[in-house]
Amino acid sequence: MKQDFWPTPDCLQRIYLADLHIHSRYSRATSKEMTVSALVRVARQKGLQLIGTGDFTHPDYLKELEESLIPAPEEGLYVYKGDPEGPRFVLSVEVSNIFSQGGKQNRRLHTLLLAPNFEVVKEINAVLGALGNLSADGRPIFGFPVKELIRLLRRISEEIVIIPAHIWTPWYSVFGSFSGFDSLEECFEEELEHIFALETGLSSDPQMNWRLSALDRFCLVSNSDAHSPMKLGREANAFFYPMSYAALVEALKNDALAFTIEFYPEEGKYHYDGHRHCGVLLSPKETRAHGGRCPVCGESLTVGVMYRVEELADRPEGYKPLHKPPALHLVPLTEIVAEALKKGIQTKIVKKTYDQLLSIGGSEFEILLFKPLEELAESFPPLILEGVRRVREGRLYIRPGYDGVYGKISIFENGEQFSPTPPIKQQSLFSL
Ligand SMILES: [Zn+2]
Ligand SMILES: [Zn+2]
Repeated sequence: MKQDFWPTPDCLQRIYLADLHIHSRYSRATSKEMTVSALVRVARQKGLQLIGTGDFTHPDYLKELEESLIPAPEEGLYVYKGDPEGPRFVLSVEVSNIFSQGGKQNRRLHTLLLAPNFEVVKEINAVLGALGNLSADGRPIFGFPVKELIRLLRRISEEIVIIPAHIWTPWYSVFGSFSGFDSLEECFEEELEHIFALETGLSSDPQMNWRLSALDRFCLVSNSDAHSPMKLGREANAFFYPMSYAALVEALKNDALAFTIEFYPEEGKYHYDGHRHCGVLLSPKETRAHGGRCPVCGESLTVGVMYRVEELADRPEGYKPLHKPPALHLVPLTEIVAEALKKGIQTKIVKKTYDQLLSIGGSEFEILLFKPLEELAESFPPLILEGVRRVREGRLYIRPGYDGVYGKISIFENGEQFSPTPPIKQQSLFSL
């Protein structure tokens, strides 16, 4: 895949990067390390200027937030007491609704909420606390339809932002093949007018969503949904300054993002179609050509997110609506390092190298997005530099995930004989 857009280095003066959807350690299946101070530290490493708090409905976490955050100079945002110059926080939570609607049981939808201040958060918690157990999970579960949730929230404050989360995941999403709907109208009915942004999630990118004309009027946002610190910012949004809660809401309402940063959706376990048992991987077109049956054993194929998109799409692949913010794809720096060193992502040497790169290159986003390659060439090991170059160009080897098998993105081909071009200074900081 070729990147069709890349920001210029001077862009950094005009934009800030925001990751609005994360979880605290009070959500199920999250890392114990998800504390406010860890979020601040990693947001700085990544180069995020604004992050969601996550989980503001959880009483213990809310207490932690109130104790550790103070109002930022930017109206409606907060900052960590221990690092007042650090990343800003916006109060956020993800909630889960499991309900019956339109003659179908077990609809499951996740929704991301943003709130302008602690007072509104407390009103939300008072209302939702009467309808579900807020202490049970940082992502609380409710048994009523999501359109009812919107009604309740609108009654509390019109400033609350309501964003359907990761809209294509097979479970827990509005278009999900297992528990979702075929249209936004069907799900939200008359409350749809209060929705102005949709989260594309890790399983889809804006390019996939541009194929549905029904989504044109919505701002497509990209967030990490991080459950552990290092996953922060694996997707993010670039907003134009000035920064404030109101300006953030305006940008979302007007679809006025500078650009979004995407994870390759092919890495997901259910991107393409196929049959794991037979090692069969198919595109939606091929699936249709085979009548939905595995060409090896004849059993029915497991269809993925791309198939679902094609089912609902009214435009061909590659279509881009006018005036949509561009979307670029990144591979996390640790993955580039791991591949260049041929070591596991969790190994000490990869972590150490990552830290060293940040100490000379600035934040991860500065390295991946903004720093001129010639500048990085002065101190980066050639193979890592080449990795960064290829990620920027979108020159990668991609094997899409299917039927529960994770997809694989590789920067270097197996056995590739690599000689760096252009010539790079010998005295690099590292020996590979
Ligand atoms: Zn979710
Ligand atoms: Zn088969």
